[in-house]
This record gives sequence, C-alpha cells and structure tokens, in this order.
Amino acid sequence: MVRKIIVYVAVIIIIFVGILLWSYSGAIVTAPVTEKVVALTYDDGPNPPHTQNLLDMLERHSVKATFFPKGQNIEMFPESVRAIVREGHEIGNHSYSHHPMVSLSKTDMLEELVLSNRLIENLVGYEPVLFRPPYGIQGPGLKMALEELDMTSILMSSSGLDWEITDPKLIASAVVESVEPGSIVLLHDGHGDVSDPNAQDSRAASVEATDIIIKELKAQGYRFVTVGELIELPK
Ligand SMILES: [Zn+2]
Repeated sequence: MVRKIIVYVAVIIIIFVGILLWSYSGAIVTAPVTEKVVALTYDDGPNPPHTQNLLDMLERHSVKATFFPKGQNIEMFPESVRAIVREGHEIGNHSYSHHPMVSLSKTDMLEELVLSNRLIENLVGYEPVLFRPPYGIQGPGLKMALEELDMTSILMSSSGLDWEITDPKLIASAVVESVEPGSIVLLHDGHGDVSDPNAQDSRAASVEATDIIIKELKAQGYRFVTVGELIELPK
C-alpha cells in the first residue's frame, strides 16, 4: 500500500515537473555568448516622470534598452510609449492587466496579449514579438498562446530586485554582481500591481541605479544591446 502511494506520488511529481519544463521551453533567460554584452529591460511602465527620466539617462550614456510596458499604462501614457520608440529603444508586451497568466484561461490570455499588441501597434506602427510574463510565471496555456501569436517569452538572468530594494546603490550592486556575458537584466520603470501598498513609490531609485549600472559595466568592458539584438548575436 505504502509502496503504491510512493509510486503514485512519484508519477505525479514527474508529470508536474515535465509540464513545468515544457511550459518554460523556448523562453529565453540569457544568451549563450562569450562577448561582454548585456540587455537592460524595464517592466511595468510607462510611468511619468520616471520613464522620461530614464530615457534621458539612457540617452546620456548612448544606451538602448528594452521596455515591457503594461497595457493599462500604455493607454494612460501613450506619449511615453512613442518617446521610448522614437529614442531607439525596443518595446515588448507585458500583458494588458498584469494578472499572473496562469490564473487566466487561454482565451483570456490571448485577449490580453492581442489587446496590448494592438495598443502598441497603433502607437508605434509595429506589433511586438517579445513577451515578458508578469511575475515571470509561465504555464502551458501561456506557452501555447505565445506559439499561436508567434511571440517569444523573455525572462531574465539578473535583477536589481527593485521591487524590494529602494537604495539605488544596492539595486545597482545586485545587477553588477550577477551580470555575465549575455545577461538579460530585469529592472522596473513602473509598477505591475497597483493594489500593492508600495505601488505609488517612486521609481527614481531604479533610474539612479541605471546610471551606476551603466558606468560600472562599461568600465568592465560591457556593451549594451536590446533583447532583440542580443538573441540575434552569433553564439
Ligand atoms: Zn511586471
């Protein structure tokens, strides 16, 4: 009896892990390159004035980044989205509502993705092909929805932990200490969850951290590319 239960539990665990691995297959975490390149990404915006301050900061350093704005914020701040693209940065999709995608049906997920794609296309003239799942959570439904739309999931291999850390120096050191050639770095210019008590906190710390990150990584010989450029680099 005990042996049967152990076998059942083992089978359930194997199936669960298998589904999880399959769900994340094809998602990009980092690029397998040896060259010192890194892609900065910013989620949950646009969020004036921090997004504009960030754009000014990136411009001063001649660095291009990738933004994954939230659909609801795109509707609120369309000019910021236009500015991001006008200044040569890349835009991806981060869903419309920022709900964890696993909590939605596949139909609802598709609606979220298509709605944000349309919002972006109407503003900048092209549909994004990159998607960052809210909270980095990806289930089988999302994998199938992304395949249907021919979109690629972009995760991250380095993070400023700027949803927890508020000191720009510490955000920067979290990134600098974890970066390797090909890293995709997660930072935020906005907030995904507006019911979060910290949602109205400033993103000034992330902007300031960006200044430190760029200076330190450039001093180490890194160059900065968009995620689209990173994944096209020869391996
Ligand atoms: Zn987010």
